[in-house]
Amino acid sequence: MSQLETKLTERMPVIFVGHGSPLNAIENNQWSRGFAKLAAKTRKPKAILAISAHWYIEGTFLTGNSSPKTIHDFWGFPDALYKIEYPAPGSPEIAEKIEEILASKKGMLTLDWGLDHGTWSILKWMYPAADIPVIQLSINKYLNEEQHLSIAKSLQALRDQEILILGSGNIVHNLKDAFDQKRAGSEKTPDWAKRFDEAVTHKLENYQTNSLLTLSSTHDGKVAHPTEDHWLPLIYAYGSVEEGESIEFPIEGFDWGSLSMRTVIFGN
Ligand code: ZN
Repeated sequence: MSQLETKLTERMPVIFVGHGSPLNAIENNQWSRGFAKLAAKTRKPKAILAISAHWYIEGTFLTGNSSPKTIHDFWGFPDALYKIEYPAPGSPEIAEKIEEILASKKGMLTLDWGLDHGTWSILKWMYPAADIPVIQLSINKYLNEEQHLSIAKSLQALRDQEILILGSGNIVHNLKDAFDQKRAGSEKTPDWAKRFDEAVTHKLENYQTNSLLTLSSTHDGKVAHPTEDHWLPLIYAYGSVEEGESIEFPIEGFDWGSLSMRTVIFGN
């Protein structure tokens, strides 16, 4: 085995998870059972760097807290969901190292966030012991997709240090459509949602970077993502792997009609 092959085999895989409804954090359903199975697909990481759709802000920030708080960033859900705590530690030391890597991208530490539900609703199932340090990286709403991809590429080296990069969003995420369907008791997957999910899958499988980046501005892309927050975590996961690395979809399907729950493991 050549040196390069050895290195690639030792790299941590990268995961993108379709998180869907916050209820998946407390319900035993096909999605939460799928999240629980993800941990067994990779070796236990030394730390996790999570890029969540729910930290979409004015800048590129990293959580520098040693004990990040559990943030309940949703409204109108059952009380049980607000009582959940995910007490994983942070790691100021690892966060500082990532800050150095992102210095040219203006990445900075902050203590003003913690773990939002895009992160803990998944990790609660993957690592219920909450014993792995977790750091979140924000998504700067002022950057374009090429700039997000460039940040993601600089994160690749973390995979050689046993750090699991975890993007958490949804490949199709039009909440108005999803809530309308839920209220109407319909849950029928619209054609545009199927088409967009399939198009993304095809671009990922073939590492067609340029056309992947143009998808969100197509007609279907605009319907699938009225805002970019749930789309961009996929770009972070994709950018953290090299073209041609393995790709698998351990979870597929739609919840609430049009929420794509497709989950991707790269480089396993
Ligand atoms: Zn979400």
